Amino acid sequence: MTDAVLQSDGDIVMQLRGLVSAPGDEGYVAATSIWARQRDVRPRFVVHCRTANDVQAAIRAARERNLPLSVLGGGHDWAGRALCDGVVIDLTRMRAVIMDSDRRAVTAGGGARVRDITAVTDGHDLAVVAGSVDSVGMAGLTLGGGYGPLIGRFGLALDNLLDAQVVLADGQIVFANAERNEELFWALRGGGGNFGVVTALRYRLHELPNIQSGMLSYPLGEAQSVLEICAAVTASAPDELSVQFGIVAGPDGSFNVLVIPTWCGAIEEGESWLASMMDLGTLLSGSIEQKSYGALLRTFDGFITDGLRVFLDCCWLPALDPGSIQTLVSAMKNAVSPACAIFTHHFRAAATNVPVEETAFGLRREHILVEILTMLPGDSSLREELQHLDWIRNTRDALRSALPGGYPNMLGRNETARATESFGPNAARLMRAKRQYDPDNLFSSAISLPADSA
Ligand SMILES: Cc1cc2nc3c(=O)[nH]c(=O)nc-3n(C[C@H](O)[C@H](O)[C@H](O)COP(=O)(O)OP(=O)(O)OC[C@H]3O[C@@H](n4cnc5c(N)ncnc54)[C@H](O)[C@@H]3O)c2cc1C
Repeated sequence: MTDAVLQSDGDIVMQLRGLVSAPGDEGYVAATSIWARQRDVRPRFVVHCRTANDVQAAIRAARERNLPLSVLGGGHDWAGRALCDGVVIDLTRMRAVIMDSDRRAVTAGGGARVRDITAVTDGHDLAVVAGSVDSVGMAGLTLGGGYGPLIGRFGLALDNLLDAQVVLADGQIVFANAERNEELFWALRGGGGNFGVVTALRYRLHELPNIQSGMLSYPLGEAQSVLEICAAVTASAPDELSVQFGIVAGPDGSFNVLVIPTWCGAIEEGESWLASMMDLGTLLSGSIEQKSYGALLRTFDGFITDGLRVFLDCCWLPALDPGSIQTLVSAMKNAVSPACAIFTHHFRAAATNVPVEETAFGLRREHILVEILTMLPGDSSLREELQHLDWIRNTRDALRSALPGGYPNMLGRNETARATESFGPNAARLMRAKRQYDPDNLFSSAISLPADSA
């Protein structure tokens, strides 16, 4: 199969010989086995890139043959946008991480996962601002936003991006930062993979000698009061505290409330805040421990299995008010199966201090990001999938105080109308940048952009 494809694909693909794999090849199977199992997508071939020049050649190959193109980073997009029916630009061999000698910044390859960076920075008591799970790709996370446990102190992941090397749709390799290609740099920070293939990203490093965190489990029956108290405590908490919560089934299939507080400041200053998190109700399990940042980002490992059928929706709540809590708790009490779950991220403090026009990310007011998801076995039936999709839709519809739009990294494919709302005041400027950098929409397998009003 590979030979046939290579022969029929002419000179350009010949040039990529050694980098290309096709259906049935080991490299192809590994690259296309992403976190969220896709059923109806069958890439024509995968180009396993090692350098920006390989990416240039892959883009040229796709363009000349008029094939769709997609970019595979960490493979953790729930909608499977890393894959398409044409050429997949696989960056998983571009995961090198190099720290500057003054230890103020770190540069990661376009395919690096969060864990590739913490493996380098952890031993130096330094941290990049990442999400809350270390298997996620750093580029995909950053280009769409990057909510994580350091958000209150240091903002989103994209607020900490200093420089990016990008292969554009016309094949040029450029750098984008605050001084060069500023408009591209602006658009990359929130507009996702819509503007080019990012082959390297340079991030600000933060000193972080201590992290204290834990996964605390409370009974679902106490969820309303646990979450109300939790919301009241965090409302007046210092920037160093972030609290994520989830309602998720344990191994026995019954649901519990998980509260995951993280303190990223001086130990003694966090003690009383963390103690209050241990006292939200009847604590079933969990304790607060001092750990490395890398260890913190492994907290959710037990909940993440590759190859499941994933369905997800999200919304932005202005606050975790008693009415919204009631809606979430009631949704979980009526969950279709233990495959249903809810997780939140709190957007606050430092992240809200960045002016909305500074990056393409469209919502800078304090809010709660709610993820409503189901993770089903890979062989689930259509009936099961529809039942779970209904549950997701009903849950989101019931959250009546939700703000317009939602986290672009978690919206579905082609959610143009919601994307327009999500990018808010930045929508028109983002579309101007799209027309400038990718007028033919080569990078169409990326997060949804606003409707183009031009
Ligand atoms: C288990 C899990 C936990 C998560 N936790 C968080 C979290 O804590 N905070 C948060 O904000 N988000 C979180 N997310 C969402 C995550 O940030 C997005 O799904 C993100 O797109 C994943 O990036 P990836 O590289 O792993 O994905 P991929 O599937 O490889 O890529 C997704 C898309 O990103 C773009 N892309 C990726 N790499 C590049 C690149 N180098 N150049 C250009 N475009 C690129 C492409 O358009 C691609 O289609 C989580 C997702 C999962 C599955």
